[in-house]
Amino acid sequence: MSQFDVTVIGSGPGGYVAALRCAQLGFKTALIEKYSTLGGTCLNVGCIPSKALLDSSEHFENAKHNFANHGIIINEPQADLARMVARKNEVVDQTTKGINFLMDKNKVTVFEGLGSFESATQVKVTKNDGSSEILETKYAIVATGSKPSTLPFITIDKERIITSTEALNLKEIPKHLVVIGGGVIGLELGSVYLRLGSQVTVVEYMDKIIPTMDGALSKELTKVLKKQGMKFMLSTGVQSVERNGDSVKITAKDKKGEEVSVEGDYVLVSVGRKPFTEGLGLEKAGVELDERGRVKVNDHLQTNVANIYAIGDVVKGAMLAHKAEEEGVFVAETLAGQKPHINYNLIPGVVYTWPEVAGVGKTEEQLKEEGAAYKVGSFPMRALGRSRASGDIDGLIKILADEKTDEVLGVHMIGARAADLIAEAVTAMEFRASAEDISRMSHAHPTYAEAIKEAALDATGKRALHM
Ligand code: FAD
Ligand code: NAD
Repeated sequence: MSQFDVTVIGSGPGGYVAALRCAQLGFKTALIEKYSTLGGTCLNVGCIPSKALLDSSEHFENAKHNFANHGIIINEPQADLARMVARKNEVVDQTTKGINFLMDKNKVTVFEGLGSFESATQVKVTKNDGSSEILETKYAIVATGSKPSTLPFITIDKERIITSTEALNLKEIPKHLVVIGGGVIGLELGSVYLRLGSQVTVVEYMDKIIPTMDGALSKELTKVLKKQGMKFMLSTGVQSVERNGDSVKITAKDKKGEEVSVEGDYVLVSVGRKPFTEGLGLEKAGVELDERGRVKVNDHLQTNVANIYAIGDVVKGAMLAHKAEEEGVFVAETLAGQKPHINYNLIPGVVYTWPEVAGVGKTEEQLKEEGAAYKVGSFPMRALGRSRASGDIDGLIKILADEKTDEVLGVHMIGARAADLIAEAVTAMEFRASAEDISRMSHAHPTYAEAIKEAALDATGKRALHM
């Protein structure tokens, strides 16, 4: 029987990072993954492939609509979806192989097979051919991630009624893609096909898209996506989804309670994801789940069984790759006797539409609900020289600061490169900067980041310079 200090089950960004950090800290570490490639949802069917298709479709969109304005005249561009998907697969292949390299380099022993607990200190690995072996382990980290969820009355047939996994591998560009759920997946993958020429209709239960982000972002994104041609049915609760040959009909109730319907050739169900614990044998180790099927953990990410920890999408909190990574490092360092810390308030959220959307800290809605005294500064991207030079003029940056102390409480942005710009806000907030601090830092000109400085100036006595 092989013996390990730490056995990690699941090789997504939570699991593989936990394994790496455990190995760096001198633990004899095993990593178990049921699929033949490492990297989990994020690298195989999530973050990386979706961004590859977003980038390809954005190039196409620019070639089709924006090149001429820049003085580049080309023949009418054609979208070759098969090539885009093949390129996406190449990117995934390179990225997942990179994880194998990292595991080898750090001497993590990788096992391909289903990991399941036999007891709190024994994990069985069952391979595809049915053979199995038992690993004896001092500690275990559950990092088994999540799977797409659906609605009780929807059967995902993986052909016409699909989840994000199938949407990343379509053989044709849909004529009309109906997206159920105006959250991150719906808007990102909806954007891919909108740019490639599909009609896209988003049916959202709430009265706004990306409902958990700051309201100003939702409002601006709705405006921009509508301008790009995306259609929205808000405050609309889907009641049934019926396939008839190559067509799928969605029937729903609008906010007046009246029946509405929409028909498309593909329906993407993107109503959230659920924690994945099937086949793990948690009961044999005595590990408890919470009321939402997530592995129950305390503030140290420790389950009710002292030597078993859990991280990432399978536990509470945002289902984000970088949150899972932080938790992987946190547990490894905790096991090594260190005292790590995660500031959950400062985990940024990003939507990779174009323009991109990003936010960190408290939203204005949250501050209102808390009764906090706050002030707002904002700056439109169109007032920046950088935006006019590139032509990316949509969007704004909004800074929320404490009314009395001026400490930055939240930064919310929509605009070109917001996914990268948000790092400045995270850094500033990690060091508890005031809006005044940001406003006095030199920002290179011309950059999109100047909008952060201007919004900070606006928050501190309406001193924005270029507005
Ligand atoms: P996962 O990545 O889900 O990995 C879990 C792994 O465990 C899987 O490989 C699974 O096969 C394995 N496993 C499960 N059970 C067992 C078992 N019993 N034995 C062995 N192995 C097992 N997040 C972002 O931050 N940015 C993005 O841009 C982004 N884009 C996304 C786009 C899409 C389309 C999707 C679906 C998700 C996206 N996410 C994004 C979310 C991100 O993918 C997840 O938050 C992240 O992958 C969670 O990491 P994890 O390690 O907890 O789990
Ligand atoms: P989500 O929670 O972002 O959005 C789901 C949406 O579906 C919500 O707006 C919700 O109101 C709506 N909805 C729920 N029930 C509905 C119904 N019956 N009818 C109509 N609408 C309904 O979930 P998602 O988009 O499926 O993404 C899943 C997870 O993956 C998210 O937690 C997200 O963090 C992660 N993810 C992140 C990124 C990123 O970071 N860029 C990208 C993709 C996915």
